[in-house]
Amino acid sequence: MCAVASDYDLSQRTLQFLSSPRQQLIGGKWVDSASGQTFGVVDPATGEEVVQVARGNAADIDAAVAAARKAFESGPWHSMTPSERGKLIWKLGDLIESHARELAELETLDNGKPFAIAQAADVALAADQFRYYAGWATKLLGDSIPISVVYAPGTEWQAYSRREPIGVVGQIIPWNFPLLMAAWKLAPALTCGCTVVLKPAEQTPLSALYLGQLICEAGFPDGVVNIVNGFGEETGAPLASHPGVDKVAFTGSTEVGKLIVQAAAGNLKKVTLELGGKSPNVVFSDADLASAVPGAASAIFFNHGQCCAAGSRLFIEHSIFDDVVNGVAGAAKQIKVGSGFQADTQMGPLVSQEQFDRVTAFMEAGLAAGAEALAGGGRVGTRGYFVEPTVFVNTNHEMKIVREEIFGPVVTAMPFKDIDEIAAVANNTNYGLASGIWTKDISKAHKLAKRLRAGTVWINCYNIFDAALPFGGYKESGWGREMGHEALNNYLETKAVCIQL
Ligand code: NAP
Ligand code: MG
Repeated sequence: MCAVASDYDLSQRTLQFLSSPRQQLIGGKWVDSASGQTFGVVDPATGEEVVQVARGNAADIDAAVAAARKAFESGPWHSMTPSERGKLIWKLGDLIESHARELAELETLDNGKPFAIAQAADVALAADQFRYYAGWATKLLGDSIPISVVYAPGTEWQAYSRREPIGVVGQIIPWNFPLLMAAWKLAPALTCGCTVVLKPAEQTPLSALYLGQLICEAGFPDGVVNIVNGFGEETGAPLASHPGVDKVAFTGSTEVGKLIVQAAAGNLKKVTLELGGKSPNVVFSDADLASAVPGAASAIFFNHGQCCAAGSRLFIEHSIFDDVVNGVAGAAKQIKVGSGFQADTQMGPLVSQEQFDRVTAFMEAGLAAGAEALAGGGRVGTRGYFVEPTVFVNTNHEMKIVREEIFGPVVTAMPFKDIDEIAAVANNTNYGLASGIWTKDISKAHKLAKRLRAGTVWINCYNIFDAALPFGGYKESGWGREMGHEALNNYLETKAVCIQL
């Protein structure tokens, strides 16, 4: 039994899941890694190991891609009707819901996030993601196309287009929303009839492996979803470069996103990328501060700031700067930091030692460059990867903490003068993932929304996600969109069929 069993009041199903090393899912079977090696998964609240999981390498990726290819080209998945596919996908949503407790427990153990949030947000959104896409399986329409063929007068034609699955898909996901990122990737790919090799992040493989069990239970044919755990260089890289993979979908750092593009060049596989951000959150003086202040705090502190869309650059109109920044700092100081399994915890630990080192190094760099921490600025306690929610003022555009993605609960606040200044400043970044605007002036809100170079603009709200709403980045924040009907295009080819009558 794992070391954490006695510390937390885990469900029997979770304890059972953690009672032996976890394997990987290849061709419908749970198997050890080809090398026989495993690696430890760590509880970020204690730094202690929870369980061992199989450590995949290029040989496992080869086997998984072969299984996915076989499932794509022959067998029950290949001949399944759209309605049957939709039913399976819906059923998976139901199974996620009925295993919500176990999935949320694994998310808290693995990632550190508070259990209540894991259940209410991560697990609920993951179930909804599958249900949303289940309905699309029967609606992947082509067009009937009237053509003229100008160089062949007097001829008659019938032409149409078909939307067909792109094939075998490699999906590489991060650790910040382990289950939800798996759902964002898997749901549209399966809806389109693709088969998948999924590589979870090394820090957080558990909920995806549990999901693998539910995928088997739902009745997906063997090889439709394969899950290989392991490290980026050992499993992610061979998946991204594999000649048998038709498309790779990646979420993670911009740095690795660029490596994915290079790796994909070998067979010119299609690529979509969901990368980092340094999102501006803009509070005008006419905002309703009763919602803007807690909204700005939650924009950065939700999920411990480990959100690609985090509102990490807070811009406040001059006249209300002190009120808002003091309000956000006050909110930061109120946040209860602790183990995700304690009922009153609002912020858990960061995900890993590496991330803890990275975020605390950013805090130190900010202080060393002359920024002032109105709240936080350091670690919490001496055990686990806990840091303080941090609000920096006296910042400038040259500072590393203002320019680079921190991916932790650290916000930089700056005053601004008017809409022209803020439009330029907000866009002064290589990223373009998300943004926020707080104002009661609807005309001003729309004007700024138009000028922001970002894939999402939240007005008088922040971090609102829905399966129907497309999400993705401008500039170095990515290629393509996830969610909504747009994500279907990531997994479909268009075939033109032309008939002379
Ligand atoms: P990362 O290295 O980009 O990891 C994301 C995924 O890519 C993981 O599954 C990772 O595997 C895999 N990977 C790593 N190197 C790879 C390679 N050469 N080829 C193929 N796949 C590879 O992100 P990270 O190291 O976990 O976090 C670093 C920073 O990335 C964060 O501080 C944050 O700024 C950013 N980030 C952004 C997002 C987002 O949602 N946009 C999410 C996470 C992190 P392993 O985990 O096994 O190495
Ligand atoms: Mg990494």
